[in-house]
Amino acid sequence: MNALAATNRNFRHASRILGLDSKLEKSLLIPFREIKVECTVPKDDGSLATYVGFRVQHDNARGPMKGGIRYHPEVDPDEVNALAQLMTWKTAVVDIPYGGAKGGIGCTPRDLSMSELERLTRVFTQKIHDLIGTHTDVPAPDMGTNAQTMAWILDEYSKFHGHSPAVVTGKPIDLGGSLGREAATGRGVVFATEALLAQHGKSIKGLTFVIQGFGNVGSWVARLIHERGGKIIAVSDVTGAVKNQNGLDIVDLLRHKEKTGRLTNFSGGDHMDLNELLTHECDVLIPCALGGVLNKENAADVKAKFLIEAANHPTDPEADEILSKKGVVILPDIYANAGGVTVSYFEWVQNIQGFMWEEEKVNNELKKYMTKAFQNIKAMCQSHNCSLRMGAFTLAVKRVARATTLRGWEA
Ligand code: GLU
Repeated sequence: MNALAATNRNFRHASRILGLDSKLEKSLLIPFREIKVECTVPKDDGSLATYVGFRVQHDNARGPMKGGIRYHPEVDPDEVNALAQLMTWKTAVVDIPYGGAKGGIGCTPRDLSMSELERLTRVFTQKIHDLIGTHTDVPAPDMGTNAQTMAWILDEYSKFHGHSPAVVTGKPIDLGGSLGREAATGRGVVFATEALLAQHGKSIKGLTFVIQGFGNVGSWVARLIHERGGKIIAVSDVTGAVKNQNGLDIVDLLRHKEKTGRLTNFSGGDHMDLNELLTHECDVLIPCALGGVLNKENAADVKAKFLIEAANHPTDPEADEILSKKGVVILPDIYANAGGVTVSYFEWVQNIQGFMWEEEKVNNELKKYMTKAFQNIKAMCQSHNCSLRMGAFTLAVKRVARATTLRGWEA
């Protein structure tokens, strides 16, 4: 099942639990606007390359649409659509005043030089600048993009509309970025994990963790869990996987990765087959990379007791069912990885106020939002006798449905 079918299915399930009217259900499901643009850019060698860029704006009932822009070879319209919808539910779960959007360009950023990436980003911005804005749609980094990408979008957008720092979040600090934004998704994952474990009478210290993905999210999750005394026994990225039953020294591993660009050949651990990682014996499994990694092929072999969805839609519905039957507690993506967009909201607020917060305030506020959202999800689980995923979906869909109904449909 592809990402869009899976997301629609979760939404419909929540809608059924809430007893939504079918017309309202349809209006919430269909995206507000789908944008597809051709981006032709000269390469460094003088030849031309054409890429396809997307921005799907899913819903704006609760505020400006919000979500990342991803540069990845597998970007496709259905996937961007699913991710845009997930952003609508994600912003509603943590109760920040936004709707949802997502964008992407089908490219392999690793194969492009900095100046090629800059040209591509500027051309994409030229094509969509009229459709984004501080109070309409606010992009942010995602897979394959970063603070530098946001700086180029900000600069290009400002040529058309004047200086507009709040048109993107996840910017470099020197251009109005927020302290704590870089680590925010990972930090949010850790706050979410702590809230879940506390409910089960456990804490990070002393538990064993397996982390898939060692990019921005995975490496921050690893660092913060390591700091809290969690034992990280296996980690992977695209280059390979490494394990150590006594716990990997994450500080050393980060240094190794920075020096060599890879996780493999790390002297503090042993090589591990990438395919074994997700089914490795552990207490907590945290996928932090691509979607669909847990499916009917591997779900039955998962040994973790807790699954924290730091990636977007890492678990397809068949795997979800298998894992739930096995008693694995699943913390759903629309809550678990909402820390990034929550601190994006703080960044946007700081830009609009023209006032910079200290990092401690950012982190404390993030903790408050994540903890409160967990309590609200639990309350929905109790009143509807449902899983954490459905608790999060019903909480989000109910909020968006209420905002939509309050606005009305009078043309
Ligand atoms: N790309 C991140 C996400 O998927 C952050 C989005 C944002 O900050 O707007 O949640």
